[in-house]
Amino acid sequence: MAESTVFEKIIAREIPAEIVLENDRIIAFTDIAPKAPMHVLVVPKTPQYRDVVELAAGDPELLGEIVQAAQAIARERAEGDFRLVFNTGELAGQTVFHAHAHVLAGTLGEDSLA
Ligand code: 5GP
Repeated sequence: MAESTVFEKIIAREIPAEIVLENDRIIAFTDIAPKAPMHVLVVPKTPQYRDVVELAAGDPELLGEIVQAAQAIARERAEGDFRLVFNTGELAGQTVFHAHAHVLAGTLGEDSLA
């Protein structure tokens, strides 16, 4: 069995995070290294999908819930508009292989992509 990722440790409360939304299927928390005034990660609780492509194929409804959560968070914590980023694969900058969405909002600089 693969070693658990940092996100599983956050879900299990083994390491702390600033949690901004949680339900049975999703958790969202602020990124430890924010790339925008608001930078929240929205993460399905299940570790079974390594990236958004696997998630979309395996549980498209859950992917839809992640998008809805992103909008709710951007409305609550920013002005409502947001950028959604799914780094997919190592060469694209993915470092945590547990599917997740970056939700970025606020005044985005040139180097704002996570
Ligand atoms: P990826 O590079 O895989 O798309 O995104 C992983 C994200 O997780 C990065 O933006 C990184 O800053 C964030 N991250 C890594 N470790 C932690 C942590 O321990 N706590 C929080 N809140 N975010 C983390």
